Amino acid sequence: DRFRESKVYMRALFDYIPLEDKATPCQEAGLPFTRGDILQVVTQDDPTWWQAKRVGDSNLRAGLIPSKQFQESYFNGQYIAGLRRSFRLSRKDRQGSAGEGSDPGDPDFMTYEEVTRYQQRPNERPRLVVLIGSLGARINELKQRVIAENPHRYAVAVPHTTRPKKPHEKDGVEYHFVTKQQFDVDTLNNKFIEHGEYKENQYGTSIEAIRSVQAKNKMCIVDVQPEALKRLRTAEFKPYVIFVKPRVPEGRRRRSAATSPGGGDHGRLTDEDIQEMRQSAIQIDQQYGHLVDRILIKEDSVSACAELRGILERLEKESFWVPVSWVR
Ligand code: 5GP
Repeated sequence: DRFRESKVYMRALFDYIPLEDKATPCQEAGLPFTRGDILQVVTQDDPTWWQAKRVGDSNLRAGLIPSKQFQESYFNGQYIAGLRRSFRLSRKDRQGSAGEGSDPGDPDFMTYEEVTRYQQRPNERPRLVVLIGSLGARINELKQRVIAENPHRYAVAVPHTTRPKKPHEKDGVEYHFVTKQQFDVDTLNNKFIEHGEYKENQYGTSIEAIRSVQAKNKMCIVDVQPEALKRLRTAEFKPYVIFVKPRVPEGRRRRSAATSPGGGDHGRLTDEDIQEMRQSAIQIDQQYGHLVDRILIKEDSVSACAELRGILERLEKESFWVPVSWVR
């Protein structure tokens, strides 16, 4: 029994640097990891220190990591002896900018999430694909391109809008056209995963719109504000989250003279544009990085589209780590 392989896997939701951890019984025995790493927990015998290996490491020796309970107590402020400053700072940043999206009451948010391998079976509902993007990623365009190439496999969720229907449009195709009153009622009833205003009209994407794509056995691709992730992370949708970051030109460039390398499609970018793009990517990464399955660095539309296509194809064939609560 002692030699049986552990089946407990955790996705790390924080970075751990044993050499900076004053609470560990042995810094040298610690296992360093980065948020997003999958850890195989070998023993949970000790309530404060687990032994774990990193999945994908060739290193056979297990190392010490703080247990979930221990780490949670630290994040809850009950544990103050160890000065893991970097965690504290990044948590403060998150709360500062996340507003109601932050989740201080939920320690799961910050420690480990138990995960398991999941492979979509042919008769199963396709997973929801969620694109989030930082400034300049143009994820809607990316989504439309990939779907246009393969409209019988992929589809958008048809949004609702209060704006008048144009002559060439059909209700239920481009949009579900609804009255403002109806839209307000739907909003109050929490029908939308996200909604917003544009030129005094309301727009929003409903949960039902996603379900109806999946009912046709198509893979639904949505591009949303990252705040919507909380609503979408359910066993029903099993979202695969792709964070699209535009490749930001490195180094200092003269004002208005910077273009993205490799004939990218940003056009001319000023230093300020570049700075804002970087900042936007950093912010999303800090707040939502732990919910991201895959980062796609976008050089230009054509190569990003090809990469996205490849990811979508693998999604139907390979297994991926998902929270255990999605499959139990
Ligand atoms: P149009 O009225 O020209 O079809 O769309 C105008 C704009 O409405 C789009 O460019 C987009 O910014 C916004 N829009 C369209 N669908 C949605 C949606 O589902 N949610 C939100 N928040 N905005 C949308």
